Amino acid sequence: MERLDRFMARANAAYYATHDPYADFTTAPEITQVFGELLGAWAAAVWEAMGRPDPVLLAEAGPGRGTLMADALRALAQVAPECRAALRLHLIEASPLLRARQAARLPDAQWHERVADLPAGPLILIANEFLDALPIRQFVRRGGAWMERFVENGAFVELCTEAIPLTHPVPRCGGEGEVLEVREPALEFAGWLGMRIAEQGGAALIIDYGPECSAPGDSLQALRDGRPADPLADAGAADLTAHVDFQAIAEAARAAGAAVHGPVPMGLFLVRLGLFQRTDRLARGRPPAQAAALVAASSRLAEPMHMGRLFKVLAVADPRLPALPGLEPYP
Ligand code: SAH
Repeated sequence: MERLDRFMARANAAYYATHDPYADFTTAPEITQVFGELLGAWAAAVWEAMGRPDPVLLAEAGPGRGTLMADALRALAQVAPECRAALRLHLIEASPLLRARQAARLPDAQWHERVADLPAGPLILIANEFLDALPIRQFVRRGGAWMERFVENGAFVELCTEAIPLTHPVPRCGGEGEVLEVREPALEFAGWLGMRIAEQGGAALIIDYGPECSAPGDSLQALRDGRPADPLADAGAADLTAHVDFQAIAEAARAAGAAVHGPVPMGLFLVRLGLFQRTDRLARGRPPAQAAALVAASSRLAEPMHMGRLFKVLAVADPRLPALPGLEPYP
């Protein structure tokens, strides 16, 4: 028997070490180059607002194939060559398989296992669909008490929480059968980021899917061969994810001393950064089918019924920085 978060950590480590995840799902940078380009321009604007530090760390957590960063660097070199010259590229990646793919596109990067291993200094960090892969715990309300979910032989076993030392407070009430998720590694990441950025300067952009405000409910899901699958069957054969709790992330980063901007729906953020202007420029002069495909790809990121609303963007920033492009201060 294994606690759900330990099962999820083991399953995802095995999955990312042995699979090309893009056979099972796609992500915004794989849909259009404009996504990474806009984030590169965002990073350049933040670097200006930081007072043009040289050197500056540009880091990405969970870079996948390295597509986002390759697009971002190309745009950055065009709009802000001095920023491109000042930045040192650092990637946080656990999978040796994906590190090798990233190295092919980003040869001058340095790799780390965890964000805490990053060298000191002002930092601009991007994390797209990274936090959703981190392990969660689940609690279920049964007969007026909370039980914690463990995994045994591909099924949940529920144990009374009184026997479990909790590192996170679980609320007293909840309706029968209600599921509550506790995301300790994501909160640790946010707390670490908040402290690091408040002390050493910079900003981090977190893009992922989940609700703006903390909400109960079971959001654990698995994708295998591109289709929804049973999350508990066959550890390591499917990609396991859960919603990101943006309110909890914002509060943890702020409690650690950082300012928080957003969250805003991803569609709104990208449109504010000029998604369609950039797409139009790219489409100009191309054959009609190619131009239409570029517009359709950008629309997929922006439209509420596709990725535009479920995905959110939140920044953790040095409190000395002014408003950041595309975002407003956290309420
Ligand atoms: N950001 C990319 C990839 C998202 S998939 C994109 O937008 O396409 C999740 C990424 O996070 C993969 O690169 C995976 O190997 C990495 N990852 C997942 N869990 C991790 C962990 N605990 N530590 C470091 N990297 C992790």
